[in-house]
Amino acid sequence: MIFHRIKRKIYKAFHPVSGEIWMLHRVVEQRSIVPEQRELEVTVDWLEQKILEYKAKGYSFISIDELPSIFNFQFSIFNSHRWVCITFDDGYQDNYTLAYPMLKRLDVPFTVYVTTGFIDNRLPMWWYPDKQLGISTDELKVLDADPLCTIGVHTVNHPKLDTLTREQQYQEIAESKQVLENLLGHEVHHFSFPHGVHNEDTLAICRELGFQTAAQSWGGPLRCHEHLCPLPRVNIMQA
Ligand SMILES: [Zn+2]
Repeated sequence: MIFHRIKRKIYKAFHPVSGEIWMLHRVVEQRSIVPEQRELEVTVDWLEQKILEYKAKGYSFISIDELPSIFNFQFSIFNSHRWVCITFDDGYQDNYTLAYPMLKRLDVPFTVYVTTGFIDNRLPMWWYPDKQLGISTDELKVLDADPLCTIGVHTVNHPKLDTLTREQQYQEIAESKQVLENLLGHEVHHFSFPHGVHNEDTLAICRELGFQTAAQSWGGPLRCHEHLCPLPRVNIMQA
């Protein structure tokens, strides 16, 4: 136990925190009373307040596209420079209707990882029965045209990838990448694992397909010399 704690301290000393990648899902005006829905939701006012608090503490808000270069220069430039990178999973319409106007006003970059089956509500989000919450093709294109927003991939059907064969995983990841690239007219470089889960095959496929980052749902802040695939994130939850 003591040995483990000492080992962790030594690790932290040689791997100082570089920044935080926030994982969010829905942004709403009023949160649900259903617990499993409520934990995926933050109010737009609460999120704005949290961003302003971090800005006041000196954090800068960066785009996920800046991550690889930050990693190259982290010791010279960014070691004492704290940053936050905001990401949203799944592709909810409220990312466009509620989060986007607020983030635009504050000039804060963000990433939306889209499950392509949810676009235009072709597939239901089964954790929100009776609701149509998916972003539309047109909204996605508007977000993509704004340099503040990066669109990432989050599979076709939102499966637990570690329960699939390598071929099935490849199909889910490669097809969703292709669908988004056809829709947006350019390459997509960032991925996040549905349910946060992955195995060695998932990582190998992400590298094979040329993703620069592949985000998981846990892991805390990003420390110097850690990996961008899998990329640790901090789950941002409103109390
Ligand atoms: Zn998801």
